[in-house]
Amino acid sequence: MIVSILDILLLVASQIVVSRGRKSAFCSPLVSCDLPLEAGLLFSCMLRAYPFSGVITMRNCFIHFVIVAGIFSQILTSFSARAESTSQNRMNHAISGISSADLKTHVDTLADDTFEGRAAGTRGGRAAAGYLRQQLISIGLKGAGENGEFTQPFRRGCQNILAIVPGSDPALKDEVILIGAHYDHVGYGSRRNSYGPTGFIHNGADDNASGTAALLELAEAFTTYPCRRSILIAFWDGEEQGLWGSKHFIANPTFPLEKIKMALNLDMVGRLRNNSLTIYGTRTWDSARTLLSSVNSSMVSSEPLEIIFDWEIKPNSDHHPFYKSGIPYFMPHTGLHDDYHRPRDDAHKINSVGLESVARFTYQTVLEIDQLDAAPTFRPLSKWETPQAKHRFELPLQPPEKRLGLRWASVQNSKNGLFVTSVDRDSPAALAGVARGDRVIAFNGKAVTSDTEMQHAVFSSPASSRITLHRGKDDSEKIIDVTLRGQPLRLGLSWRQDAANPNSAMVSRVISGSPAAASGLLPADRIHSINGKAWVADQGNQNPFLGLPFPIHVTYERRGKLHATVMSANDSVRLDPQGD
Ligand SMILES: [Zn+2]
Repeated sequence: MIVSILDILLLVASQIVVSRGRKSAFCSPLVSCDLPLEAGLLFSCMLRAYPFSGVITMRNCFIHFVIVAGIFSQILTSFSARAESTSQNRMNHAISGISSADLKTHVDTLADDTFEGRAAGTRGGRAAAGYLRQQLISIGLKGAGENGEFTQPFRRGCQNILAIVPGSDPALKDEVILIGAHYDHVGYGSRRNSYGPTGFIHNGADDNASGTAALLELAEAFTTYPCRRSILIAFWDGEEQGLWGSKHFIANPTFPLEKIKMALNLDMVGRLRNNSLTIYGTRTWDSARTLLSSVNSSMVSSEPLEIIFDWEIKPNSDHHPFYKSGIPYFMPHTGLHDDYHRPRDDAHKINSVGLESVARFTYQTVLEIDQLDAAPTFRPLSKWETPQAKHRFELPLQPPEKRLGLRWASVQNSKNGLFVTSVDRDSPAALAGVARGDRVIAFNGKAVTSDTEMQHAVFSSPASSRITLHRGKDDSEKIIDVTLRGQPLRLGLSWRQDAANPNSAMVSRVISGSPAAASGLLPADRIHSINGKAWVADQGNQNPFLGLPFPIHVTYERRGKLHATVMSANDSVRLDPQGD
């Protein structure tokens, strides 16, 4: 009896799976439904092969259990795979929805003469606010200003425009990521705010119709594919008057400030040149550079950007009131230009494809930040991390003392050794009796035939070494003992930790001729992983390369892009496996 009920259950379950599978053949190509079909066919075949019998044995029960469990696990897997692929599709859809065409439309509109330069409190400014409100309504967003309205009025006729995209995670939706852009500009210009000529409409296409347009597109993307946390969209007014709008919000927040975990500021992002984007504020939260570089290197549907991480923190835009309140920020920026605060900052000069890249990058960065279960922590130390501090931090270490102290004529492949062109006074080479005109044939019995081999021999040989020379007209062979300075090196690589990015290390020196140099690593590169393992924070004086055999695979970041390389031993010299 038990067996026959199990059989019926099994039959019904397999039929459900099979019918689901058949249906799936006609479902949307966006959703992958192959699993249920395969699972259904598999189990229906198993059913036919499996003889129904009335005999209750442990074996039969066990087989039934395995088959039923298999079916249910397949169903569950297919559900989660379906959910995952739907979620991925929605994200891709949101990203591709940020389009250069839409961005151009927004910039063309906001930077049109109709808006008379969008000065705060003027009819042009109010018209721009009206356009933004209408766009937010058409996206389907709710107001986040006073009394649930879109506006937050202040002073005479000024208004911030605020909207909220509710978070999708019940546990995290109370936390807010704020993305702001000022929509005002300087109107007809005055001697106080324009480089002239004044009296003409200053359309402010780059400053800051570009950031405003990007924020409208981001608002739409977050609606298509929301974050776990809530996204507060903030169009600031009166920035050009002295950050009026953002300061007013800080003094009269429509959300408790402690809920705001991050404040992005989009200001002048419309003139991307050479694909180079400057990002400010990345010292104000932990691991910012590491995260931004990872996002940049795995962007969906756009090329990675060249990123300049600028440490400067200036009170020159709407990030600053948030920074002063202890809220981490970052601010992408495509740089100043001759048209800045002049009537010439017009819409036709906007690189809308570049603007699309910046907006997509910003969107994906916010998604990545939102993946962190604990929001990034503010770094008060960023206050002292000036551009000068960055310069000092990135200054490479002095090259080590020359181990041998001679120069030779450059060769790539010489059977007759390397011709010595000069010997430093009191150097190990001079003390050993090497002279100008000698030819170095071998190092510790190994032939040296090229610059690389010679450099490698010098930095990796033990302190007590032996050089084979040919000297004079008769080419007489001499073998001399030499005491090289310092210890032999293995990688030729030095690094230092960056407190703001503990999961990476900054290269502080690469010795020429070393495996590190051959791998292409340069000072100021950031090492992210070794042999596929992420750089471990706080390893004290531990050397993560110690004892690793060659080849060593390294992932590093340069100007915001991740690269992979390999450090290999030079076979011409036997290496002493010692750390640097
Ligand atoms: Zn601006």
